[in-house]
Amino acid sequence: MKQNTDLNALFYSPVVSRLVPYVPGEQPQIDGLVKLNTNENPYPPSARVIAAIQWAAQQGLQLYPDPESTALRQTIAAHHGLAAQQVFLGNGSDEVLAHAFFAFFQQNCPLLMPDISYSFYQVYCRLYGIPVETVPLTDTLGLDVAAYARADGAAVAGVVIANPNAPTGVGLGLQQVERLLRLHPQRVVLVDEAYVDFGGDSALPLIARYPNLLVVHTLSKSRSLAGLRVGFACGQPHLIEALERVKNSFNSYPLDRLAIAGGVAAFEDLAYFGQTRRAVMSSREGLVLALEDLGFQVLPSKANFVFARHPQHDAAHVATALRARGVLVRHFKLPRIEQYLRISIGTPLQCDALVQALDSVLAALT
Ligand SMILES: *Cc1c(COP(=O)(O)O)cnc(C)c1O
Repeated sequence: MKQNTDLNALFYSPVVSRLVPYVPGEQPQIDGLVKLNTNENPYPPSARVIAAIQWAAQQGLQLYPDPESTALRQTIAAHHGLAAQQVFLGNGSDEVLAHAFFAFFQQNCPLLMPDISYSFYQVYCRLYGIPVETVPLTDTLGLDVAAYARADGAAVAGVVIANPNAPTGVGLGLQQVERLLRLHPQRVVLVDEAYVDFGGDSALPLIARYPNLLVVHTLSKSRSLAGLRVGFACGQPHLIEALERVKNSFNSYPLDRLAIAGGVAAFEDLAYFGQTRRAVMSSREGLVLALEDLGFQVLPSKANFVFARHPQHDAAHVATALRARGVLVRHFKLPRIEQYLRISIGTPLQCDALVQALDSVLAALT
């Protein structure tokens, strides 16, 4: 739609005029598309999740859901060996992140984050007026924890990282996460573990010892529930209490009855969780080898995607050529990573289709 800038200037608040919204990967409705661009799980959710949602749909949708989502909080807490007061739920982890940024990082000093990470972090900072100080990843796109020290005592609002990082897939060891927590004991260090179930090291066991640690998880990736919108944060009760305050000043019912029921069932079906996550990791190892055979350099991934570049071929061209062959991957036109493609791990069939398409795309480009 054509924008009427005069009317925008008239009605928009200054904050909204300055907003630069996040752009999600495309969700085209094209049959037969091999969709490897948004890191969704290639496998459907557990059959027990579907049954639970169907059952919940018959249990009184005319009534509001439990505003505390108690059943799901308790399930998640038990699963991770935490208390229910150490778990906060939101409508997808994006909402949890937004509340955390609002609750902890509006401190009139910069929030530290990697120069290359989940781009939504910068969007929240614009929304809430939080200044950002980006810390460059190393030349090999790893996280350099020492670079987060502020020896001059300069005030920081906190630290946010994704571990494994997005869109690189590179994981950080727990000792390094702990170093980060010790660098800024007076500020919240938020560790976004959206992809941790695919081989990363979770910081959840550190919660008992670090009052400044907030760990954020999602059911969108490893639990195959991107469409249900459930995410959660774990931390000591004082941090969770702050998130509750923000949530209860915004929306009392972020999780509906279907999401609560489906979420509980997702944690109860441990066998299915293990099976799908192992399948994704095993496809990843195969895909890495196939990509290397085609001449790609692939970063070591602990996520359900790989980040790869080809020394001889322009990434944007390859992405466009793949799309013409019905294969969607993600390309970010951003400094330092514009020669990379982010490829979500599909089923073995989808991975094969990708490799075949790449093979013929590269042949046509040479
Ligand atoms: C996918 C993703 C999220 C968002 O997950 P939702 O729960 O679907 O909102 C958050 N952080 C990172 C790094 C992600 O890749």
